[in-house]
Amino acid sequence: MSNETGRMLLLDKPDGDLILHEFPLPDPAPGTVLARIELCGICGTDMHTWHAPQEAVFGVEYPISLGHEISAVITALGKDAKTDSVGKPIKKGDRIGLIPAIHCGQCYFCKIAKTPEKCTSWISYGTWAKADQEPHFTAGYSDYIYLSHPNSYFLKSDTTAERTAFLEPMAVVVHGLLHANIQPGDTVVVNGAGPIGLLTVAASKIAGASRVIATDKYNRTRLDLAREMGADLTMCHLDIPEEKDRKEFVYDNSFNLVGADVVINAVGVAAAFKESLGFVRDSGTMVEVGNFVDSGTIPFNPCKDLLERGIKIIGSFDNEALHFVRSMPLIADPRLPIEKLISHRVPLGAVPDVLTAIQKNEKYEGKEMVKVMMDPSMPEK
Ligand SMILES: [Zn+2]
Ligand SMILES: [Zn+2]
Repeated sequence: MSNETGRMLLLDKPDGDLILHEFPLPDPAPGTVLARIELCGICGTDMHTWHAPQEAVFGVEYPISLGHEISAVITALGKDAKTDSVGKPIKKGDRIGLIPAIHCGQCYFCKIAKTPEKCTSWISYGTWAKADQEPHFTAGYSDYIYLSHPNSYFLKSDTTAERTAFLEPMAVVVHGLLHANIQPGDTVVVNGAGPIGLLTVAASKIAGASRVIATDKYNRTRLDLAREMGADLTMCHLDIPEEKDRKEFVYDNSFNLVGADVVINAVGVAAAFKESLGFVRDSGTMVEVGNFVDSGTIPFNPCKDLLERGIKIIGSFDNEALHFVRSMPLIADPRLPIEKLISHRVPLGAVPDVLTAIQKNEKYEGKEMVKVMMDPSMPEK
């Protein structure tokens, strides 16, 4: 143990308090890495985890640590820790992005189905149980991250800290795009202009979409950003309040006037899923990314809404190593101005207030939020 310490924000109980703790920095064990956090993106998922109902977290041992969109710089390497997870040499001072989930590599989903994101015995650096016990530094709302687990997966990053902190959300996007299978000439609708929707707009263009239409319910700031990310057209519910008119807008603006070849729903509302279905052309593809938490049910007619239309509907859940490896070149691509998505930079102690503003759908410090970055080097207010 060194004499140095680091801070970490821990949630004491379901729907409880986020409290700053201080722990001694570990000397990294053989094969492990200690890294200083430069930035951690503040994510709505953490807000949901914070306020998860008791029954949803049954069996989880609190306190837990939170924060999973991490850019960090290696400060100490254990013996034999010589490369990142794809074999690139690493040394002290190197920047890394990491895959928060630690998949077991042995279960049916890891080994046979090859969908590790559905691993049956995963843990995550984004939500770590018994986080007041060693190994400390198990998530992003912290001064350090200690990659102590043998199945940790991390990548050396040659791009900026700002871009590296988008590695995890970009991996969510890349997972969705691999399902979407965008082809040259495609019209793509991205429904929802939150951080995931905006990154999807940018990545869709790189993936070959010829026309991208971005939509948002009320947030014009985000739709302006969507244009900067490469959207050819934007549609705001404030301008087109009727759902049937919005569908018409999509059909009229799809290249072949038949609807969108691909629709990616990035809104966490059941009604948005239904609306997205209406945007897809017959025999097109819809990918659901937005409804990450249960937002209720919708009426659905298996004959009229699915079979007769011959469409594909694919749920894209979370992400895994493959998606991170494919995301690294995207976050580093100068054609994607993704740092423009950063609306705020805040110190570690501000994370609870930001999460509360996300929950209440409010501005933070008088300014519309897109992606708020926690920077632990900032002085606390
Ligand atoms: Zn996130
Ligand atoms: Zn597994």
